[in-house]
Amino acid sequence: MLFNELGLSADILRAVSERGYNKPTPIQIKAIPLVLQGLDILAGAQTGTGKTAGFTLPMLQILSANSIKKSSRPIRALVLTPTRELAAQVAESVKTYSKYLSVRSTVIFGGVKINPQIAILRSGVDILVATPGRLLDHAHQKTLDLSQVEILVLDEADRMLDMGFLPDIRKLLALLPKKRQNLLFSATFSDDIKRLADGLLNSPTLIEVAQRNTASERIEQTIHFVDKGRKRELLSFLIGSENWRQVLVFTRTKHGANRLAKQLEEDGLTAAAIHGNKSQGARTKALADFKQGKIRVLVATDIAARGLDIDQLPHVVNFELPNVSEDYVHRIGRTGRAGKEGEAISLVCVDEHKLLRDIERLLKLNLPKKVIDGFSPDPSIKAEPIENGRQNRGRGKPRHAGNARGPDKNVWGARGNKNR
Ligand code: AMP
Repeated sequence: MLFNELGLSADILRAVSERGYNKPTPIQIKAIPLVLQGLDILAGAQTGTGKTAGFTLPMLQILSANSIKKSSRPIRALVLTPTRELAAQVAESVKTYSKYLSVRSTVIFGGVKINPQIAILRSGVDILVATPGRLLDHAHQKTLDLSQVEILVLDEADRMLDMGFLPDIRKLLALLPKKRQNLLFSATFSDDIKRLADGLLNSPTLIEVAQRNTASERIEQTIHFVDKGRKRELLSFLIGSENWRQVLVFTRTKHGANRLAKQLEEDGLTAAAIHGNKSQGARTKALADFKQGKIRVLVATDIAARGLDIDQLPHVVNFELPNVSEDYVHRIGRTGRAGKEGEAISLVCVDEHKLLRDIERLLKLNLPKKVIDGFSPDPSIKAEPIENGRQNRGRGKPRHAGNARGPDKNVWGARGNKNR
């Protein structure tokens, strides 16, 4: 299947080909023709599948085909995303693909001044990409009008619910016209998502690509057992000895991210931390520096990394395992994107054996385990409770796997069993 068989206009195809895509991805093949027909869709797709172009390309086509000759430019398409980073990335995609069209788009999210956003909104935009909180602020201040929206996209809807955005979404829905096209993208279909979809979508077509957790099959994953106090040393050693050009490293806490970035700098590696306590400017700069190759190591917490789209990222390291097993899948999904192979390495100390078991249970996999010469864990070190770095997940339900049976105990060896 080629892009030019999907019913897209020459101006859009030109922008797509300049972006360097040769073939549409499975979600694009399924979604684009349906969206062009004006249908509502409920799509199961994770980041990395090409879902953004899957909704953006047909949306642009619809808007440019029925362009409105009004002096005021009403918002005709609204894309809601859970995080600022994802909003910025979707908006960037919209700009890229609309290069040869006369549609105007902008992005609004919190953490930055509201006045410049008001000025842009006042000048008129066709497509608005936004996070729910700031969008509601604008709605309350009456600095935007959503009454002419023709297409609504909820991107990463499961994340939005996880982050407690449901009440905001409901308030926003009330401001939209009843007749509109709705596209809902979600990596998972919980009961909450199904309920939201039921209330929102009009006889939706369900499309699903790549099962959840498939990243875990595509990506080469390794566990390195190592003492907590030697993780930084091992990380620097891996980066240097394997000559990694760039790596995304996850820590559990914001403080841990800062500390690690600083220590890596002391080891002579260019590094920056990205997390929720950093200003939007600092986050954007760190990400841009990383994308441009100015920084070799980007240290991130789970929330800050959501939706990060970094092309060709071959290595992800879990400096600490996440407290919530599903976050492991999201973390490693940052590598091996759009069909590319990737490598995910987790540095696991004695305190984290239970977290590792939970992850393996979720993946239904025994992950390969390796001790690097010179970094074998000291058997006299006993497990200690893990520092609670759990970030605020809003009103989301806890997603812990519960107390199902663990994997075969042989995997753990005698010492690991003590910690069960
Ligand atoms: P997404 O799932 O939308 O976050 O996209 C994941 C990555 O795939 C992004 O880096 C896109 O630029 C890239 N991508 C999207 N569509 C294609 C395509 N048809 N061919 C190759 N890469 C693509």
